[in-house]
Amino acid sequence: MSGNGFDKSAFAVDWENEQVASPQGEVGGHWGPLRISGLDYVQATFDKTTCLACPVRSQCTASATRPRAVSLLPTRELHEIQACNRLDQQTKDWQQRYAIRAGIEATLSQNIRNCGLRRTRYRGLARTHVQHVLTAMACSLTRITDWIADPAPTHRRSTRLDALCTGTT
Ligand code: SF4
Repeated sequence: MSGNGFDKSAFAVDWENEQVASPQGEVGGHWGPLRISGLDYVQATFDKTTCLACPVRSQCTASATRPRAVSLLPTRELHEIQACNRLDQQTKDWQQRYAIRAGIEATLSQNIRNCGLRRTRYRGLARTHVQHVLTAMACSLTRITDWIADPAPTHRRSTRLDALCTGTT
């Protein structure tokens, strides 16, 4: 369930019979292949008449005219791994691990945009490693020069020692 709406986890998937049951107990009418951006999925589409008359429709789909459809990864194994990972993402432990990654995202983004980090300019791991080291050095130098040119303002209250040093007491 995401917010007040029914996300994929609210639907029970019966892989053997190729059916999906909605939170209202309605069983998906059509099960078929789906292709999105060159990747394979399975889509279960519910009966249009039933969906249009459903009392909880607003929690299920934003479409005014179409029935709810649920797209799934193409195999049961992949679907179960995805469901398991999504549950894991709700845990404190996962969020703490992700916070470490979130801290590096801005740095990666800066290097991808400024230094083309997504592509290697050279052949071979050793040379590619040199590119990565040089990119990291360029990033650090850029940040140092930016900071010297325009130090980020601090929102912290100045300490008594700062006040003594700057003569503002
Ligand atoms: S809108 Fe359709 S799929 Fe969603 S709960 Fe109602 S009957 Fe089930």
